Amino acid sequence: MKKKTLHLFIFADALGWELVQHYGILKKVTPQQKKCETLFGYSATCDPTILTGASPREHGHFSFFVKCDPKRSPFKLMRFFKWIPDRIGGYHKIRNRLSRYFSKSKGYTGYFQLYSVPFRFLPWLDYTEKQDIYEPGGIIGGQPTIFETWKQSGKVWHRSNWRNGDAANYAEMKALIRKGEVELAYLFTAGLDAAMHRYGPWSPQAKAAFLEFEQKVESLEALAKEHYDEVRIAIFSDHGMTEVTQNSDLRRRCEALPLKYGVDYIAVWDSTMARFWFSTDVAREQINALLQQANEGAIVSDEQLADWRCDFADQRYGELFYLLKPGILFVPSFLNMSHVPGMHGYSPDDKDSAASWLANFESKHPVNRLEDIYAVMQAAALD
Ligand SMILES: [Zn+2]
Repeated sequence: MKKKTLHLFIFADALGWELVQHYGILKKVTPQQKKCETLFGYSATCDPTILTGASPREHGHFSFFVKCDPKRSPFKLMRFFKWIPDRIGGYHKIRNRLSRYFSKSKGYTGYFQLYSVPFRFLPWLDYTEKQDIYEPGGIIGGQPTIFETWKQSGKVWHRSNWRNGDAANYAEMKALIRKGEVELAYLFTAGLDAAMHRYGPWSPQAKAAFLEFEQKVESLEALAKEHYDEVRIAIFSDHGMTEVTQNSDLRRRCEALPLKYGVDYIAVWDSTMARFWFSTDVAREQINALLQQANEGAIVSDEQLADWRCDFADQRYGELFYLLKPGILFVPSFLNMSHVPGMHGYSPDDKDSAASWLANFESKHPVNRLEDIYAVMQAAALD
């Protein structure tokens, strides 16, 4: 009789390599532990790569907000609300309700959140992750995800729903393991990311979250061993987490320039990077001058973007990128109004940005960077 094997892939948002070593977790369950190179950007950049094996310039995902012709912007109605002060518009209850309204009325199935984008800027912007990237057709570049491969394999497979919390996803996975039918499983967890954004990566609360994560994985492994002859576990992340030690008010300094948003330029202020599109030479010169003399970060060169595989031929994510030094955060940005003690999205070459690959097996397909994870999940389907 054929050996009964469970291939369990555990995605842990923000399980950085520095953190794995610092907290010394999961050495028993996954003795093979190594650094996995991350990508420039956020989960929005990294997760499509994990799911497809494609680089950002191929799958087309990088960040949520991009420049848009105001005639075609899904947020064009927001021009009537441009008088609402950012402080009030930033109120999370209003944001959440509006986000739900847009999501529903526009038929978005992906993760949609207005964050703290000022209402007055929304009419010049569009949102990229309109479709659920975990479902067929969700990837902008058209690549199939690993779940389409798993489906074709004819094996019993399962993927947890990212909309449900970690507790529900662990419970669901346990119930499936107890049945002993599932062969390929993808568990989605985001608890570490949430704890570290809230309390910082080196806080007692983060340490507790790491120990809890370890304990949950250990209990899944123990349960799986009762129901399967062989249990193959791989735990991986999209990026790490950096402690935020300084805030930057560069956005305010930029908006104080004698330039008009939408007329002279468009900018998107992600938490650790700013992206610009220019309509006038004056705007290009003034913003370039501001960025050159600001010492909290640096303009990202085209060569660097190409090296990071984040060079988009149509410049849809910006004509100019400015990236903060690790540990500095834009406050306010379009993603956060106030200080946050933990953040990711810095240079992928910084040590705290690195992701992790933890496994209890040696794969024929070595994992050195996010693009490599797909091949291991694909091989599991052919096993
Ligand atoms: Zn995060």
